[in-house]
Amino acid sequence: MALDERAFFTEKTENRPGRYQCPKCRRTNDYNIRWVRRAKKDRLPAGADENDRLKFSKLRDYLLRLDDEVTCKACGKKFEIPSQHSLMFVDQLAGLPNDEDLEREIAAASDDDQAPPPAKPSLSARFTRKSQGWK
Ligand SMILES: [Zn+2]
Repeated sequence: MALDERAFFTEKTENRPGRYQCPKCRRTNDYNIRWVRRAKKDRLPAGADENDRLKFSKLRDYLLRLDDEVTCKACGKKFEIPSQHSLMFVDQLAGLPNDEDLEREIAAASDDDQAPPPAKPSLSARFTRKSQGWK
């Protein structure tokens, strides 16, 4: 008998912030949403057969949303959270750059592509930049 998928995971509920738009008043707010995090166990549970072993090798940690609806902070109406946001894989989450990384990237990109910020409109600095480019 094949094991239930839940036998392969340890479960833990957690709250995560989510930003949703109310379909009634069209206002967007941040909501505290309950999720269950299913983390793959370190080893196969007792009683696992070859099929379970195969299944287990393909599993990834994921988050499953528990809340289906929220109460709008602006107008007080309940609305459903879009269902395409009900499951997230944890490795996908890890692949997303966090805010700090993003800001660093933006800063680095503007260093390369743009003139020095207007706070320091030093002409000599600009000449120095250019002459480096000629070499
Ligand atoms: Zn609303």
